[in-house]
Amino acid sequence: MQSPQPTPHDKMMFQLNLRQRGISDQAVLKAMEDVPRELFVTSLDRGYAYRDTPLGIACGQTISQPFIVAYMTEQLDLQPSHRVLEIGTGSGYQAAILSKLARDVVTLERFRTLADRARLVLKELKCSNVDVILGDGFDVPDTLGTFDRIMVTAAMEEIPEALLGRLEPGGVLIAPVGPADDKQVLVRVVRTAEGFYRQELVAVRFVPALLGIAREL
Ligand code: SAH
Repeated sequence: MQSPQPTPHDKMMFQLNLRQRGISDQAVLKAMEDVPRELFVTSLDRGYAYRDTPLGIACGQTISQPFIVAYMTEQLDLQPSHRVLEIGTGSGYQAAILSKLARDVVTLERFRTLADRARLVLKELKCSNVDVILGDGFDVPDTLGTFDRIMVTAAMEEIPEALLGRLEPGGVLIAPVGPADDKQVLVRVVRTAEGFYRQELVAVRFVPALLGIAREL
């Protein structure tokens, strides 16, 4: 049986929860209000779309908890001129949020099924500044150039040097760092003139980043 559609009350509680948990950037809150999360979850989960919880999507992956999406987005400190790289498209929800706050978003996903679905939903929502690419975040094509902001949404044991090298001076990267299938810590790295300034934020739990494009669909 299909679960019910989210109600206006669900959406109100969703916003309230984000504010109560400390999200204060108005542009981030507006983006979270404007992107319909129910379009990014499976039809069975539609009625739970505005709960503050991660949900399963295809290929054994997850759409992140809304609070974490908002928190990571806030920590990225986006400007409308920014070019952003996301690693781990998943459902495309985080990419849709980023698309409201930045000039261009490039998002890489290692599962073709997820990349194709995300592309469709993002098109339906007219997020025309998002480019969904089937690719490996451990091997970002040189042709994609450098970025003002990078967000990794799958857990990495450590942040690859090559990825840090893709940050523009003054750029910010945020990534869950730690072992697969255990708690990780959200790390924020700022590229300054002197080097990389690294800060640990909060404990999180993400699915692991895996090497290479998936062989299965
Ligand atoms: N940001 C997503 C949720 C991410 S779940 C959303 O908003 O729905 C993590 C995603 O990272 C999964 O879809 C997984 O397949 C992908 N992933 C894992 N390792 C990767 C890699 N090396 N390159 C690209 N994507 C990867």
